[in-house]
Amino acid sequence: MLNDQLKVALNDQMNFEFYAAHSYLAMAAYCSAESLDGFANFFLVQAEEERFHAMKFYNFINAMGERATIQQLKEPNNSFSSVLDAFEKALEQEKEVTKSIYHLSDLALDSREHATITFLKWFIEEQVEEEDMFDSIIQKLKRIDDDSNAFFMLDDEFAKRSFTPEGE
Ligand code: MG
Repeated sequence: MLNDQLKVALNDQMNFEFYAAHSYLAMAAYCSAESLDGFANFFLVQAEEERFHAMKFYNFINAMGERATIQQLKEPNNSFSSVLDAFEKALEQEKEVTKSIYHLSDLALDSREHATITFLKWFIEEQVEEEDMFDSIIQKLKRIDDDSNAFFMLDDEFAKRSFTPEGE
Protein backbone atom coordinates (compact mmCIF):
# COMPACT_ATOMS: atom_id res chain seq x y z
CA MET A 1 0.00 0.00 0.00
CA LEU A 2 1.49 3.30 -1.10
CA ASN A 3 0.96 6.44 0.96
CA ASP A 4 -0.26 9.58 -0.81
CA GLN A 5 3.10 11.31 -0.84
CA LEU A 6 4.82 8.30 -2.41
CA LYS A 7 1.98 7.84 -4.91
CA VAL A 8 2.36 11.43 -6.10
CA ALA A 9 6.15 11.20 -6.23
CA LEU A 10 6.08 7.97 -8.28
CA ASN A 11 3.57 9.47 -10.66
CA ASP A 12 5.67 12.65 -11.00
CA GLN A 13 8.73 10.56 -11.78
CA MET A 14 6.83 8.67 -14.50
CA ASN A 15 5.88 12.00 -16.07
CA PHE A 16 9.45 13.30 -15.69
CA GLU A 17 10.70 10.26 -17.65
CA PHE A 18 8.15 10.97 -20.41
CA TYR A 19 9.38 14.56 -20.41
CA ALA A 20 13.00 13.35 -20.68
CA ALA A 21 11.99 11.37 -23.81
CA HIS A 22 10.43 14.54 -25.19
CA SER A 23 13.55 16.52 -24.46
CA TYR A 24 15.84 13.94 -26.16
CA LEU A 25 13.57 14.03 -29.17
CA ALA A 26 14.24 17.79 -29.40
CA MET A 27 17.98 17.05 -29.32
CA ALA A 28 17.54 14.44 -32.07
CA ALA A 29 15.63 16.97 -34.18
CA TYR A 30 18.47 19.50 -33.82
CA CYS A 31 21.04 16.88 -34.95
CA SER A 32 18.82 15.77 -37.87
CA ALA A 33 18.52 19.38 -39.02
CA GLU A 34 22.32 19.62 -38.91
CA SER A 35 22.51 16.43 -41.09
CA LEU A 36 24.21 14.58 -38.24
CA ASP A 37 22.20 11.39 -38.57
CA GLY A 38 24.36 9.34 -36.21
CA PHE A 39 23.99 11.84 -33.36
CA ALA A 40 20.28 12.11 -34.18
CA ASN A 41 20.01 8.32 -33.90
CA PHE A 42 21.81 8.43 -30.55
CA PHE A 43 19.18 10.80 -29.15
CA LEU A 44 16.28 8.90 -30.73
CA VAL A 45 17.47 5.74 -28.99
CA GLN A 46 17.86 7.73 -25.77
CA ALA A 47 14.27 8.96 -26.12
CA GLU A 48 13.10 5.34 -26.48
CA GLU A 49 15.06 4.45 -23.37
CA GLU A 50 13.34 7.23 -21.41
CA ARG A 51 9.93 6.06 -22.57
CA PHE A 52 10.90 2.59 -21.37
CA HIS A 53 11.83 4.10 -17.97
CA ALA A 54 8.48 5.90 -17.82
CA MET A 55 6.66 2.64 -18.60
CA LYS A 56 8.53 0.87 -15.80
CA PHE A 57 6.96 3.43 -13.41
CA TYR A 58 3.59 3.07 -15.14
CA ASN A 59 3.68 -0.71 -14.68
CA PHE A 60 4.88 -0.48 -11.09
CA ILE A 61 2.12 2.00 -10.14
CA ASN A 62 -0.43 -0.39 -11.66
CA ALA A 63 1.12 -3.42 -9.98
CA MET A 64 0.78 -1.61 -6.64
CA GLY A 65 -2.96 -1.30 -7.26
CA GLU A 66 -2.83 2.42 -8.07
CA ARG A 67 -3.67 4.42 -11.17
CA ALA A 68 -1.12 6.34 -13.19
CA THR A 69 -2.07 9.90 -14.17
CA ILE A 70 -0.66 11.13 -17.47
CA GLN A 71 0.12 14.83 -17.36
CA GLN A 72 0.78 17.50 -19.92
CA LEU A 73 4.44 17.77 -20.90
CA LYS A 74 6.11 21.17 -20.81
CA GLU A 75 7.93 22.33 -23.91
CA PRO A 76 11.52 21.04 -23.89
CA ASN A 77 14.49 23.20 -24.83
CA ASN A 78 14.74 23.32 -28.62
CA SER A 79 17.69 25.62 -28.93
CA PHE A 80 21.24 24.29 -29.13
CA SER A 81 24.43 26.00 -30.22
CA SER A 82 26.32 22.77 -31.01
CA VAL A 83 26.28 19.01 -30.52
CA LEU A 84 28.48 19.52 -27.44
CA ASP A 85 25.87 21.95 -26.07
CA ALA A 86 23.15 19.30 -26.58
CA PHE A 87 25.21 16.69 -24.70
CA GLU A 88 25.96 19.14 -21.88
CA LYS A 89 22.23 19.86 -21.55
CA ALA A 90 21.57 16.10 -21.61
CA LEU A 91 23.99 15.56 -18.71
CA GLU A 92 22.37 18.42 -16.75
CA GLN A 93 18.99 16.78 -17.28
CA GLU A 94 20.25 13.37 -16.12
CA LYS A 95 21.62 15.00 -12.96
CA GLU A 96 18.14 16.38 -12.30
CA VAL A 97 16.65 12.90 -12.85
CA THR A 98 19.18 11.43 -10.39
CA LYS A 99 18.23 14.03 -7.77
CA SER A 100 14.60 13.21 -8.27
CA ILE A 101 15.18 9.43 -7.99
CA TYR A 102 17.16 10.02 -4.77
CA HIS A 103 14.30 12.10 -3.36
CA LEU A 104 11.90 9.31 -4.26
CA SER A 105 14.17 6.74 -2.59
CA ASP A 106 14.33 8.88 0.56
CA LEU A 107 10.53 8.96 0.67
CA ALA A 108 10.33 5.19 0.18
CA LEU A 109 12.91 4.61 2.93
CA ASP A 110 11.11 6.98 5.32
CA SER A 111 7.85 5.09 4.64
CA ARG A 112 9.62 1.71 4.92
CA GLU A 113 8.00 0.87 1.61
CA HIS A 114 10.20 -2.08 0.70
CA ALA A 115 8.65 -2.93 -2.67
CA THR A 116 9.31 0.62 -3.84
CA ILE A 117 12.82 0.63 -2.36
CA THR A 118 13.64 -2.54 -4.34
CA PHE A 119 12.00 -1.18 -7.50
CA LEU A 120 14.07 2.01 -7.33
CA LYS A 121 17.42 0.20 -7.00
CA TRP A 122 17.45 -0.47 -10.75
CA PHE A 123 17.02 3.26 -11.42
CA ILE A 124 19.79 4.24 -9.01
CA GLU A 125 22.23 2.01 -10.93
CA GLU A 126 20.84 3.20 -14.26
CA GLN A 127 21.50 6.84 -13.32
CA VAL A 128 25.16 6.09 -12.55
CA GLU A 129 25.45 4.63 -16.07
CA GLU A 130 23.56 7.50 -17.73
CA GLU A 131 25.67 10.21 -16.11
CA ASP A 132 28.87 8.32 -16.84
CA MET A 133 27.90 7.82 -20.50
CA PHE A 134 27.07 11.50 -21.09
CA ASP A 135 30.13 12.62 -19.21
CA SER A 136 32.47 10.48 -21.34
CA ILE A 137 30.83 11.63 -24.60
CA ILE A 138 31.31 15.26 -23.48
CA GLN A 139 35.00 14.57 -22.73
CA LYS A 140 35.37 12.93 -26.16
CA LEU A 141 33.70 15.86 -27.95
CA LYS A 142 35.96 18.30 -26.12
CA ARG A 143 39.08 16.33 -27.12
CA ILE A 144 37.85 16.08 -30.73
CA ASP A 145 37.42 19.89 -30.73
CA ASP A 146 37.78 20.92 -34.40
CA ASP A 147 39.05 17.58 -35.75
CA SER A 148 36.21 17.00 -38.22
CA ASN A 149 37.39 13.46 -39.11
CA ALA A 150 37.10 12.33 -35.51
CA PHE A 151 33.76 14.13 -35.18
CA PHE A 152 32.26 12.29 -38.18
CA MET A 153 33.70 8.99 -36.96
CA LEU A 154 31.75 9.51 -33.75
CA ASP A 155 28.66 10.33 -35.81
CA ASP A 156 29.15 7.00 -37.66
CA GLU A 157 29.60 5.14 -34.40
CA PHE A 158 26.35 6.56 -33.00
CA ALA A 159 24.47 5.58 -36.15
CA LYS A 160 24.87 1.97 -34.94
CA ARG A 161 23.32 2.52 -31.52
CA SER A 162 20.07 0.61 -31.04
CA PHE A 163 17.57 0.31 -28.23
CA THR A 164 17.91 -2.73 -25.99
CA PRO A 165 15.80 -2.74 -22.85
CA GLU A 166 18.09 -3.82 -20.01
CA GLY A 167 17.14 -5.35 -16.73
CA GLU A 168 13.90 -6.90 -17.90
MG1 MG B 1 15.47 7.98 -17.39
